[in-house]
Amino acid sequence: MVYETNSAKETAQVGIQVSRQAQPGSVYALAGDLGAGKTAFTQGMAQGLGITQAVCSPTFTLIQIYEEGRIPLYHFDVYRITDIEEMYEIGYEDYFYGNGVTVIEWAKLVEELLPPAYIQVTIEKDLEKGFDFRRITIEERKGSV
Ligand code: ADP
Ligand code: MG
Repeated sequence: MVYETNSAKETAQVGIQVSRQAQPGSVYALAGDLGAGKTAFTQGMAQGLGITQAVCSPTFTLIQIYEEGRIPLYHFDVYRITDIEEMYEIGYEDYFYGNGVTVIEWAKLVEELLPPAYIQVTIEKDLEKGFDFRRITIEERKGSV
């Protein structure tokens, strides 16, 4: 599925739509450069799940948990991870294989820990189409385990 947006609000709208399909145990691996719109997308997902609390990137904690919505949201931002061991220390498995929806910004940095099945969300700019243009590609990844 490919979406094209021209504002952070539109990207959040895509997140809202995507959240409707989210199930307990769903994992969303977000890819895209700094400022691509990963957090904007996550804010939409949070809104769609019924979370009213403000969602921002949990840069200093790796994870932020929101339990207010119809399913818990586990929001990871692993941009600053320096050792995969940090993921074990926070007990990532409780989230990736838990009862909530996991969204991971910079998921490529923890690729080896992703579950066999997850949803890849890639956000790209295309400056020829304008500064605010984003292409959001959503693909299901199913491991052959
Ligand atoms: P990331 O989490 O990927 O680093 P953010 O969501 O924090 O990115 O920031 C995206 C920035 O880009 C915001 O300042 C936002 O206003 C801006 N922006 C402009 N156009 C878009 C768009 N189409 N989708 C998402 N963000 C956009
Ligand atoms: Mg971010």
